[in-house]
Amino acid sequence: MGEEKEQNKEYFCNSCGRDISVIKDSVIFKCSNCNNTVVRCGKCRIKGTEFTCPVCGLVGP
Ligand SMILES: [Zn+2]
Ligand SMILES: [Zn+2]
Repeated sequence: MGEEKEQNKEYFCNSCGRDISVIKDSVIFKCSNCNNTVVRCGKCRIKGTEFTCPVCGLVGP
C-alpha cells in the first residue's frame, strides 16, 4: 500500500468546484504567473467563466 500516485488523483474545477473527471473537455494547465496547477471544467470553458488561480489570484480567460 502507499503506492498510489497521481493517476488516481481527483481534480476539481477551480471555478465551480465540480469533479472534472465526469465533465468532458475539461482542462488542467499551469498558471502563467506562478506555475500552480489550475483546473477548469468543460462547462466553465463553454460559459467563458473566468478562472482564478488559488495561489496567486491571477484571473484569466
Ligand atoms: Zn467549472
Ligand atoms: Zn497563479
